[in-house]
Amino acid sequence: MNINDKLESTVFAIFGGTGDLAWRKLMPALFDLSRDRSLPVNFAIIVLGRSKITDDKLRYHLHEGVNQFSRRGMVQGEEWNQFARHIHYLQGDYQELQTYSTLADQCTKLEMEWGVKAQRIYYLATPPSMFGEISDCLGKAGLADDREQTRIVIEKPIGYDLSSAIALNSKLAETFDESQVFRIDHYLGKETVQNILAFRFANPLFEPIWNRRYVEYVTITVAEEVGVKNRGGYYDGAGALRDMVQNHLMQLLCLVAMEPMVSFDADEIRNKKVDVLHAVRPIHYDAVHQSVVRGQYGKGWIGGKEVCGYHGENGVAPDSQTETFVALKLFVDNWRWQDVPFYLRTGKRLTRQVSEVVIHFRAVPHQSFPPEASLDWKSSRLVMSIQPDEGIVLRFQAKHPGSKIHLRTVEMKFNYQETFACRSPDAYEALLWDVMKNDATLFMRADQIEAAWRLLMPVLEMWEVASPSDFPNYAAGTWGPEGAQGLLAQNGHSWPLPTELVHPAEPACEVHDLGEDGGVLKEGK
Ligand code: NDP
Repeated sequence: MNINDKLESTVFAIFGGTGDLAWRKLMPALFDLSRDRSLPVNFAIIVLGRSKITDDKLRYHLHEGVNQFSRRGMVQGEEWNQFARHIHYLQGDYQELQTYSTLADQCTKLEMEWGVKAQRIYYLATPPSMFGEISDCLGKAGLADDREQTRIVIEKPIGYDLSSAIALNSKLAETFDESQVFRIDHYLGKETVQNILAFRFANPLFEPIWNRRYVEYVTITVAEEVGVKNRGGYYDGAGALRDMVQNHLMQLLCLVAMEPMVSFDADEIRNKKVDVLHAVRPIHYDAVHQSVVRGQYGKGWIGGKEVCGYHGENGVAPDSQTETFVALKLFVDNWRWQDVPFYLRTGKRLTRQVSEVVIHFRAVPHQSFPPEASLDWKSSRLVMSIQPDEGIVLRFQAKHPGSKIHLRTVEMKFNYQETFACRSPDAYEALLWDVMKNDATLFMRADQIEAAWRLLMPVLEMWEVASPSDFPNYAAGTWGPEGAQGLLAQNGHSWPLPTELVHPAEPACEVHDLGEDGGVLKEGK
């Protein structure tokens, strides 16, 4: 394990640390941090749970998770043992104050051993219904008194709707100052998501055209190939709008549409993002059907295998009307974006996994080339690809080699992995590191969460009273219901096909004849 003596001594307490999130994400991320960016000299992970298990049994279980999910793969025994020494188990009931006083005693004991006061991070990896109660008890036990040295981390979903989000935020505020609350949206920990800010604001090139004068429309896609896996019970009570749009897609919208920040200060960036949400044109209750399309998958084919429909998934009610797909058309009413449509879509069991933001530029104001030169004309666009490949692609027009003027669409590609010759750290690694450094830039503030819910409430309320009559309305393995295409087609727009970022091994084409035709294209092998 790498030691960094510049980092503050830290106790990392994980409530619900015996669960899936801790096993697949948190512990592998902490372990990878210990190898790469280093952990403090004085560091302890206290895993809280209700089950009766020993430290050794817990460590064995977590070791299996790290072996499967660490960025580096299998972990050597001695390396794991060094790390595992820092993990301790605390059995307790979250409703009993005794659990918290034992936690306080353990923290004090560690601090006495270390001879310094440590920062304390409470990570709530429990079902969301427990968040308020745990926060309350931490307060009652005096575990949140030090505002500088204690932090609470909670996972999405933050609330089920606007009123429950407000209630949860108020509950947390009874014990913690807003500066102590870190609400995780793991999407924001992804390198390419953060790169949207770097790309926009560290280059003078694109910002001048990042507005309604040059941009015709923007599409944001977060498509999943997988179904609900083993999360059917949770998902059926949530649906795509709550599970993906309220958080991940809204965050992407904010990063694309926000104004330049004055500094890289956490609150400055978060203010600019909230401004975007405040500027989004409200979706009126009676106009929901014009701006939003919902869908649910039926059976179909993915990767050559037949897969069941949503109703056949474990944990899903056989007559469920929960949406597994949403597409929305939004407008950001400000000087920069007035009347530019932002189309957002997300869904499960779609053709393939892809997350990307595409800026579709307007056509040139005057076409100087002869019509026959631009028969293959396609609009210029910029693709910011987040998943599975990470990078940026700019599509523009170029003259095809040959004696005649013939325009052809070409692409310039930047591939993260190829350029930097390394894999990006996992989103949780970046986020846990930031929590330890007390940097809240990538975390959601209470007002941001509430602004996003406020926007979506008319949709949720409308859907509650108007049941879908056509579910399931898309086959697994397709790009979603037809209505999602119609949402864009009515404005002459269309969803882009996923952009390929990997460079072909050989040239895509070669020119063999520069005769009258302006050259004959031969596709690369
Ligand atoms: P789990 O369902 O695996 O639960 C985590 C732990 O919480 C369990 O191991 C259990 O520990 C404890 N627990 C469960 N029910 C109760 C209860 N009623 N009272 C007290 N403790 C309970 O959840 P996950 O690990 O999947 O998720 C944790 C949190 O993270 C949730 O809020 C979830 O929404 C969120 N999340 C999870 C993601 C994931 O990939 N798993 C992704 C994004 C968010 P024990 O029995 O030992 O007490």
